[in-house]
Amino acid sequence: MFEQPGWTRKSDRGVDLKYSREENPTVRALEKVVSKLESAEDSLCFSSGMAAIASIYLAYMRSGDKLVLPMEAYGATLQLAQDLSRFGVKPVFAWPRAEEIVEEIDEKVRLVLVETMTNPMLRVIDVPEISKRCREVGAILVADNTFVTPVLYKPLMDGVDLVLHSATKYLSGHNDVVSGVVAGGRKEIKRLGDWRRKLGTILAPIEAYLVLRGLKTLELRVKRQCESAMIIAEFLKEHSRVKRVHYPGLPDDEGHKVAKKLFKNWFGGVLSFRIKGGRREVISLMKSLKVIKPAPSLGGAESLLAYPIISAAMTIPEEVRRRLGITEDLLRLSIGLEDVEDLIEDLDHALKEI
Ligand code: PLP
Repeated sequence: MFEQPGWTRKSDRGVDLKYSREENPTVRALEKVVSKLESAEDSLCFSSGMAAIASIYLAYMRSGDKLVLPMEAYGATLQLAQDLSRFGVKPVFAWPRAEEIVEEIDEKVRLVLVETMTNPMLRVIDVPEISKRCREVGAILVADNTFVTPVLYKPLMDGVDLVLHSATKYLSGHNDVVSGVVAGGRKEIKRLGDWRRKLGTILAPIEAYLVLRGLKTLELRVKRQCESAMIIAEFLKEHSRVKRVHYPGLPDDEGHKVAKKLFKNWFGGVLSFRIKGGRREVISLMKSLKVIKPAPSLGGAESLLAYPIISAAMTIPEEVRRRLGITEDLLRLSIGLEDVEDLIEDLDHALKEI
């Protein structure tokens, strides 16, 4: 509640402070920190990553427009894009690599949304290449930087129009809040802010406070998680019960070259791996874990092991999943802040149980 003794206070953005669905001082404090982190003119906070994505789709897409996404992305992001076809929007799903995405971008494309690092295969998208093409045709480029964080890479520096995060993950960092943020140029943020007001997708102040507190340790957490992920990727690669590891930090990984170009020497805190076996062995492995928790989500203090075919990738059609390599032997591991030796011991023990 904001009392109005005959006048209204304005926020630094010039919005009247009169009702928390429109603007709120705690949310605004978080937005200022996010703008600094992403080197953006301005930012907006949303009640979830999906609230941010839905607001972006609604703010930009019109009947007849094309919307380009890689076919490997967060399930609900893809599903919502598909649902927009009810309103005359034409979603196009490209192979998750810059060359194939660029091929789909023509004058009819209004918006392109890419994940800087894809979920769950950890493919790294060459964002600057896509940004060049978007400029040529006047399309808006949005980068979902959830897996990467501004500690590793700032997409706005490479010509992206809007960068977004499921702040539920690394930005808040403690697996205890659901939130989303979008950062970009002042004009685009103003347009999106108007939609947030109409849709009611703003973040609650208490959640904004939790994200603000989490952000104080963002760099420390992410760097530690990247270091542990590298050690664990190398350990799993040599394990007799593991068929393959997908992690862009490994020199022979398909994403390594682009990751080096964009992120320099940090490669993220998530990896995926294939075990020798299928669903039965995966369930047995998950049941044997003592430190790592079998759960979806990522980017928090606790290490989480997710089974993509029944979580984030569940809504991707099975045939597409198979082409992408999201099969029943694939697991995704988000590295937390535990001692790396404890994590290795836990994985080794659980793998030997299968
Ligand atoms: N983007 C990515 C890459 C995600 O992994 C997720 C959720 O897992 C989302 C967006 C959606 O975010 P939220 O769960 O905060 O709505």
